[in-house]
Amino acid sequence: MRTRLQCSVLALIAFLSLNSSAQTKKLKIYISADMEGVVGAVTSDQLGPQGFEYNRFREFMTEEVKAATEAAFEAGATEVVISDSHGNGENILIEKLPRNVTIVRSWPRPLMMMEGIDETFDGVIFIGYHTSTTNMSGVRAHTISSARLADVRLNGTSMPEAGINAAIAGHFGVPVIMISGDDAIVKEATGLLGNIEGAVVKWAISFHAAKTLTPEAAYALIRDKTKRAIARIKEFKPYKLKEPATLDVRFKAYRPSELLGYLPIVQRTDSHSIRFVGKDIIEVSKFLEFITNYEPSLEP
Ligand SMILES: [Zn+2]
Repeated sequence: MRTRLQCSVLALIAFLSLNSSAQTKKLKIYISADMEGVVGAVTSDQLGPQGFEYNRFREFMTEEVKAATEAAFEAGATEVVISDSHGNGENILIEKLPRNVTIVRSWPRPLMMMEGIDETFDGVIFIGYHTSTTNMSGVRAHTISSARLADVRLNGTSMPEAGINAAIAGHFGVPVIMISGDDAIVKEATGLLGNIEGAVVKWAISFHAAKTLTPEAAYALIRDKTKRAIARIKEFKPYKLKEPATLDVRFKAYRPSELLGYLPIVQRTDSHSIRFVGKDIIEVSKFLEFITNYEPSLEP
């Protein structure tokens, strides 16, 4: 029989060891941020440096990322890495983010919108995402390049950027847990990835129109969904692509497929399309980054 003192010492030891294991437990979150799905964004007026509303919408994009970041830390995250994955990759106002995050900027990057992800992460959040180029709805529906690509398929399935990026995360065993954007991408992403949390910050009316929340309402929603996603983090499964990974790309123009067809690693499958088979999604990612960034005139 133990004395009361022995019992309380044992209880104290148990409490301290539980507490220290909670303190040392790492929870790493990766946030990939795009802009077409940011609250209120509907046309190029908001989406690039030439647009008259761009500077305001950089702030909205930054605030959405910040809302997810702060909510992640409040929900127990110990580290957050953010990738600025829209346009020039230089949209997020980095001075407005908490000091304990790091940010991936500009291009090119071997892992594209997922650069910086690895097997040490626990969950991925997509902010400001949009539908694929083959989706008949969604604000600014496109895949990687709205000017150049008409379809991007992985193992025969047309993919939104959310699907390609989920496969990259899945390669490292990391699940996607939350997405924000318009109602159409939340529907497309949950159809592909399962029951992840979705923050609908606007409702698509057409390619260039939407009914939108206000920025403050969007930030509150993103905070809420991020916390819910982290509370459920054990439920989500990584999106694993079968290997080898077959990539089919359909270009809007004729000449890219013609020229890429000269390469022995590329098969030209029709007038506008090519196929590349990679040993995994990492090879596919590098190939995609190459064909969407390479120009003979590259300097320096
Ligand atoms: Zn995008």
